[in-house]
Amino acid sequence: MATTTDVLVIGGGLMGCATAYYLAKSGAKTTLVERNLEPGSETTARSGAIIRAHYGVPALVTLALEANKRYARFDDEIGRPCGFVASGYSVLVDDADAQNLRDITAMHQSLGVSAKLLTPTELREIVPSLKIEDAALCAYEPEGGFASPPLTVTAYAARAKELGADLRFGSPVTAAARLDGSGWQVTLGNGEVVSAGQVVLCTGNWSKPIGSLFGLDLPVTPARAQIVVLERPEAFAGVFPVVSDLINLAYFRADGSSGMWVGSSDNADLQDYLPEPDGFDEGTGAKAVADARRKASFRFEGMEEGDKGGVQRSFSGLYETTPDWQPILDSFGETLHAAVGFSGHGFKLAPVVGEAMAARALGQPDPFDISIFTQSRFAEERPIRTCYPYQRAKFLR
Ligand SMILES: Cc1cc2nc3c(=O)[nH]c(=O)nc-3n(C[C@H](O)[C@H](O)[C@H](O)COP(=O)(O)OP(=O)(O)OC[C@H]3O[C@@H](n4cnc5c(N)ncnc54)[C@H](O)[C@@H]3O)c2cc1C
Repeated sequence: MATTTDVLVIGGGLMGCATAYYLAKSGAKTTLVERNLEPGSETTARSGAIIRAHYGVPALVTLALEANKRYARFDDEIGRPCGFVASGYSVLVDDADAQNLRDITAMHQSLGVSAKLLTPTELREIVPSLKIEDAALCAYEPEGGFASPPLTVTAYAARAKELGADLRFGSPVTAAARLDGSGWQVTLGNGEVVSAGQVVLCTGNWSKPIGSLFGLDLPVTPARAQIVVLERPEAFAGVFPVVSDLINLAYFRADGSSGMWVGSSDNADLQDYLPEPDGFDEGTGAKAVADARRKASFRFEGMEEGDKGGVQRSFSGLYETTPDWQPILDSFGETLHAAVGFSGHGFKLAPVVGEAMAARALGQPDPFDISIFTQSRFAEERPIRTCYPYQRAKFLR
């Protein structure tokens, strides 16, 4: 069997489904192939889904801010909920990073982010369980928050389908060949061949092996991140703003009404780079659980260390990292494009990345400035670096 399509999107995670939505909305004949049976069942499924504009790279701030606005109006635009909760997003630093936080917040404000500086006492008025003895200064983004990965990805997939996209699940790509005219012939696991004028790779942690089928060497390496969800006391139930603790290098967000998602912002915890993405240890080690409990008890009242039964669940996911921990949003010739290597930032960026990659595939001008995210920056030794490095969190912001 053979299929012909204008644009073939490979990978049915959040990036692929968002890209397919924007393509279908533009009227392009769109096909998406995903090896699994459901959309978003790999990295997207394990995402913290935190949405914020707090970055030290201005181009990324601009993209994240626009994406945040789209999450806020997602349900109306897509016609289905994404579970966005505008809980607010906060950052805590001590004296060592206070000037940096002032500078980065001024940059955010100059780009239109409604971020403001707060004293620790003022942040505690918003998060009464917060312990602030060691904090010198905070930043607060009232419009940040988090969404639901399964709701978001299935909403994009369903809307893309309604708009005419052909979404094929259980369809792994196994081979690719360049067509003589223009475009690609892509072979699926069942032997079917798809001829596509344009191909967009949204293959997350699988970008190295899939990219090689297209003659690309995409520098994407899986890095294992461990997440622990702790039980909160009754006095601390409900939604609270995401807290990024850049003193103890942890981030916390509400998980349901009684849970607290705890992740590490410690570079040392993220050195678990894996040779390949499949078959990794999806559990968590004793150290990650102990660290999460210690950091949570240090930052919040009622989360005392050693409290038995405090862990609701724990798991690992894979950040799809590039050498500078920033995405690759690029085109390789006229007919091949890639949106990969989001390095822990991908969920929040999906609405703008989807539109940008759809525009590339349709030969339209970039709707946003994505010019710094080329792959050639690595060979040219021009990695993207934060203009405002924090003392401890370093490149993770
Ligand atoms: C623990 C954790 C927490 C995170 N927290 C946040 C956060 O708070 N905020 C944020 O913005 N980002 C966060 N991220 C990052 C974000 O989740 C990812 O960047 C994003 O989900 C990547 O989406 P994707 O579609 O590129 O990749 P994926 O969801 O991995 O999708 C890639 C798809 O390609 C498919 N594929 C692979 N090989 C083939 C093949 N041969 N043929 C067809 N299909 C194939 C895979 O099956 C997969 O479904 C987090 C990530 C992790 C791991």
